[in-house]
Amino acid sequence: MTSKVVSLHRKAGLPVEALGLPAFEKGSVWLVGAGPGDPGLITVLGLHALGSADVVLYDALVNEALLKLARPGAELIYAGKRAGKKSCKQSDISRTLVSLARKGKRVLRLKGGDPLVFGRGAEEALALARAGVPFRIVPGVTAGIGGLAYAGIPVTHRDTNHAVTFITGHGADGKLPKLDWDAIARGAPTIVFYMAHQFAGEIAAKLIAAGRSGSEPAAIVSNAASEKQHVVVTTLAGLGEAAAASATPAILVIGENVRLRAGLDWLGALGGAVLNPDPLKAPALRDAM
Ligand code: SAH
Repeated sequence: MTSKVVSLHRKAGLPVEALGLPAFEKGSVWLVGAGPGDPGLITVLGLHALGSADVVLYDALVNEALLKLARPGAELIYAGKRAGKKSCKQSDISRTLVSLARKGKRVLRLKGGDPLVFGRGAEEALALARAGVPFRIVPGVTAGIGGLAYAGIPVTHRDTNHAVTFITGHGADGKLPKLDWDAIARGAPTIVFYMAHQFAGEIAAKLIAAGRSGSEPAAIVSNAASEKQHVVVTTLAGLGEAAAASATPAILVIGENVRLRAGLDWLGALGGAVLNPDPLKAPALRDAM
C-alpha cells in the first residue's frame, strides 16, 4: 500500500493499520458489496478498497455518492445492467476485469448489496479464477436483510419465524424461475423476494394456491435505505396490486414478521411517527413512508 493511500485513509479516519486490513495488491480484483441505498452501509474493508483502487467498475444499484471516496485519479467505469441505461454484457464485464488486472491495476468491482446474493458476483469470480487472476471477496449488506431493517422489518424474530427463504423473481431468461411453490409455501414462515416486482401478482397467486393465507402480512420496500425509501404494508392477496403501484428496486416480503414494523419503524419514528411497542398484538396493516 502506498503512503499516499494510507494518508488518505488517515484523513477519512479509517484505521487501516490498526485493523490490519489487507493491502490491495496490484493486478488483483476485489469484488465488494456496497450495501443497499445508504452509502454508510459499505464495510470498512470496502471503504479501504475504494481508497486504494486504480479502477472502479460499479453497478447501477451502487449509490454513486460512494464514488467520491475513490482514490483521486481512479478510473470510474459504469458497468450496470438496468433497463433504460446502456447495459453491459456479463461476459464483457468479466473480460474487462481480467484485462485490467493483467495490466497490473488494482481493480475494484463494486456491486449493490452483497456481491454473492443474486448479484452474479460468483460468475465474475469464477472468470477470474479461470484466468488465474487473484481476487478477494468483500461481503456487503444485502437488500433482503438490510433493506428490510431500514423499513423496521426484522428478517427474523423468534415469535414469528425461525426460518427465512430468499428467492429471486427473475431467472436468467427474465422469467419467473421454475420453483417448487408447494415446498416454498411450506418451507419457511417468512419469504423475501428480490427482483420480483414484475411477477408479484403471479407469485402471490402461486403461494395462495399452495396453501398460504391471502390475509398474511406482506410488504414492499422500494428504494430501501435511500432518501426515496417507500414502504407499503399490504397482504399476500394485495401484493400484486401494491407492487404495480410501487417503484423499483424493491424487496418484497411476506410473513408475520412484517407486523413488527408497527413497533420497529425507527426511520418513521425519527420523523415523528409513533411506534407501537407491542406490535404482534396489533393489527398489521398500516401504510406509511
Ligand atoms: N446483490 C444485491 C441484489 C442484486 S439483485 C443485494 O445483495 O442486495 C437486484 C434486486 O435487489 C432488486 O431487483 C431488488 O429486488 C433488490 N434491491 C437492491 N437494492 C435495493 C434497494 N435499495 N431497495 C430495494 N430493493 C433493492
